[in-house]
Amino acid sequence: MSNAICFDLHSHSTMSDGELPPRELVRQAAASGVQVLALTDHDVTDGVADAQDEAGLAGIRLVPGVEISVSWADHLVHIVGLGIDTSNSALQQGLSGLRDKRMQRAQAIAERLVKAGIDGAWDGALRYAAGQVVSRNHFARYLVECGRARDTQQAFKRYLSRGKQGYVAMHWATLEQAVGWITGAGGQAVIAHPARYRMSRTLLKALIEDFIAAGGVAIEVLSSSHSPAEARQIAALARQTGLLASSGSDFHGPGAPWARLGSLPPLSIECTPVWRDWDLMRDVTALAPPVSIRSA
Ligand code: AMP
Ligand code: MN
Ligand code: MN
Ligand code: MN
Repeated sequence: MSNAICFDLHSHSTMSDGELPPRELVRQAAASGVQVLALTDHDVTDGVADAQDEAGLAGIRLVPGVEISVSWADHLVHIVGLGIDTSNSALQQGLSGLRDKRMQRAQAIAERLVKAGIDGAWDGALRYAAGQVVSRNHFARYLVECGRARDTQQAFKRYLSRGKQGYVAMHWATLEQAVGWITGAGGQAVIAHPARYRMSRTLLKALIEDFIAAGGVAIEVLSSSHSPAEARQIAALARQTGLLASSGSDFHGPGAPWARLGSLPPLSIECTPVWRDWDLMRDVTALAPPVSIRSA
């Protein structure tokens, strides 16, 4: 039996494109064996207070986080912030600007979908967003609802991915801005799901170089988006470049079953975990499950 602590440092709630409200997310994380959970909604931290409170009730730790939309070298890159002070005003101003851009993009997406013969996407997506941060995921759910796609993945493939009819390019935050907001709020910046960007090794190395120059410190080695082979490659890259390693499921809810809470294996020992110097590691015994006693 492993006595490793179960970390899941990437998850979403209804405050962005997740399906569960923050408190329910925390309860399900605890029930799945997660001991340290980061809530990392897209461009918003409004779920952190409730999640923090519920984590206290559930007996797990909640790391305040965010996932920031970044434009870098013509790519949409996601930068996760862990351990942020959500009251930091520069961070909140930056995130507020990104949410405005999300609304502008949503209007443009809806207009393009009308041209593709799909009416009602604006109302439909906003209904799924329920007054919170609007995401392409909400459009995907609407496209499934009106029979244009079998599931949200197919909706992305047909309409919402880069190059498709409903895709709208935007200038999000710069890498320097996103990392600056996170570190300015006392957090650690992490490159999210690097294998998803389908970058060449050279381009990924250039991203890492710019990221480190901006003050970034970690990269997701383990993610539901990564195959075991990709995880090994990213682990090697993390070692070479001196980045710490993070692990997060990118859970969005039961409707996206490819990412399950607490489902990832422990980080390989060659990695230096992003949580190495976290305060909670000092009273690790309070978190660790009972170590099995084996006879010699
Ligand atoms: P947005 O942040 O609004 O650009 O939407 C991106 C979100 O859509 C990601 O965080 C995922 O949750 C989801 N997503 C992106 N690509 C896909 C895909 N191919 N299939 C299903 N969901 C996706
Ligand atoms: Mn998402
Ligand atoms: Mn992401
Ligand atoms: Mn995510």
